[in-house]
Amino acid sequence: MTHFTTEEWIDFANGLVAIRKRKEMDRHLEEGCSRCKKALSLWQKVRQTAKSAADYEPPEHVVRIAKAGFMGAQVEQKPSRMHRYPSGGQFMKYKNALNLFAGILLAAVALSAAPSVHAQQCSLAGVAGKWGYTYTGTIILPSPTGAVPVAAVGRFTLDADGNLSGTQTRSNGGASAQETITAKVTMNADCTGSGNFNVYQSGLLVRSAVLALVFDDDSRELRAIFESLTLVNGPSPQSLPVVITVNAKKISGLEESN
Ligand SMILES: [Zn+2]
Repeated sequence: MTHFTTEEWIDFANGLVAIRKRKEMDRHLEEGCSRCKKALSLWQKVRQTAKSAADYEPPEHVVRIAKAGFMGAQVEQKPSRMHRYPSGGQFMKYKNALNLFAGILLAAVALSAAPSVHAQQCSLAGVAGKWGYTYTGTIILPSPTGAVPVAAVGRFTLDADGNLSGTQTRSNGGASAQETITAKVTMNADCTGSGNFNVYQSGLLVRSAVLALVFDDDSRELRAIFESLTLVNGPSPQSLPVVITVNAKKISGLEESN
């Protein structure tokens, strides 16, 4: 029975074998070669370990262990004064060290291919930028007016300290107005957050609102809903029930000119 080499099984585990050869190797396994099955399962484990390590540990951890193993294998390989070329046994040890090194490379490939956990986390620095948005919903005014549809389109700049400022054109039941907005945004690592907004007309504060935020699409999209709305331009602040959702998309980062 002709076996396949360790290198071939590493490629196989990594999905780098051409279809025709892959079929030959599959057939070899089906014929019940335990030696090659062991080799394959080892390299599949290396690949899996590298993948799961990417979720929990920095890559250095895996590389350090693999390197320690590599050094150990080298120490074992004592140079012979009698033979110019390594003996069979020495060559095998050297080959094992090479295979281990191949494992390090495989782990590095698997780690770089695995989606980075950091990319999925959110920070104020990550969401900082220039954004465009719309919101739509309903505001419920005191009787007899009742529910009024509202909508807005606007843009804002959000900095890495959570300071937001922007402009919008809003329509309340068909009455449109230009407004400026400011907000203080706080952010959690799981990409949820909240914002305390103030809305001005001609420099005069008219409304404040609290919004629940979720950043997604790798910090390029923001979804939000109004949790509360307060009119502050009357004799006393007046809270109004609202159902308004917001969708925003990042236009550019802060460093890009726009
Ligand atoms: Zn075999």
